[in-house]
Amino acid sequence: MECPTCGEYGDLLHATIRKTGQQVIVCSECDLLWTHPQQDIDPARASDVASFLAQAGIEPDWQELQLGARVPPPATV
Ligand SMILES: [Zn+2]
Repeated sequence: MECPTCGEYGDLLHATIRKTGQQVIVCSECDLLWTHPQQDIDPARASDVASFLAQAGIEPDWQELQLGARVPPPATV
């Protein structure tokens, strides 16, 4: 699925925060992060990787994320 913020340049990935096990979705290009993978990926609800990790008391480093599968594009109805 393309990132709604940076469009064609970014690909959304599932990721897990290593220290907390929390599942998130991140953009590999613009570093935005969504904490509710089940909800719509809305730019208005995005956080960013560095500030999210900092708020959780974790070093703001991509190494703290276990990157997973790409988020598939939404199904067309
Ligand atoms: Zn992006």
